[in-house]
Amino acid sequence: MTAILDITLPARAPFSATLKAGQIMRIIDLEGQQAVDALFYNAQDRSERYSAQDTLAAQASSGGPYYLQTGSVLRSNEGRAMLTLVADSCGFHDTSAGACSCEANTVRFGHETRFMHACRENFLTELAKYGMGKRDLVSNVNFFMNVPIRPNGELTVDDGVSEPGGEIALRAEMDVLVLISNCPQVNNPCNGFRPTPIRIIISDT
Ligand SMILES: [Zn+2]
Repeated sequence: MTAILDITLPARAPFSATLKAGQIMRIIDLEGQQAVDALFYNAQDRSERYSAQDTLAAQASSGGPYYLQTGSVLRSNEGRAMLTLVADSCGFHDTSAGACSCEANTVRFGHETRFMHACRENFLTELAKYGMGKRDLVSNVNFFMNVPIRPNGELTVDDGVSEPGGEIALRAEMDVLVLISNCPQVNNPCNGFRPTPIRIIISDT
């Protein structure tokens, strides 16, 4: 494997890159328990973008779970395969709970959290580089984030189970613009209350 890009993304930071079809992106949770929020767009036509609903509906129709795991196909709002999760040390990744925002923080954790940095701000910062904005914020994936869904449909953000060095690998099935927010949340256990760096590697194989 020859890396096209190999970086350490600091805690709380945003990132974006374009993957060519067939390329592999690995994300490594260097210190463990670090949620990595991600958005995906067709690089040729950004009106086609990741859809949690299409992804989970297709997965459920073949008896699959409500979270992402090895073999999961990440689908677009047109139902097409965007990426495949080809390796995963963690076992499950949330795509139901959405990204943290300053607004949601005030509702969940109190008004004093209004000015804390959040994933939504990271996404907007990164989207601006591509002439995109709030209307392009759609459903996202939360890699390494533990969100059990109770029988009554309730979601809970639980302690992360990703170990230090935990790793996923995604294979692009089309040219894909990837946006990442290394989640800055400190008010719930999604990052073990301590946001940490991650490593991102992009390669041809
Ligand atoms: Zn977040």
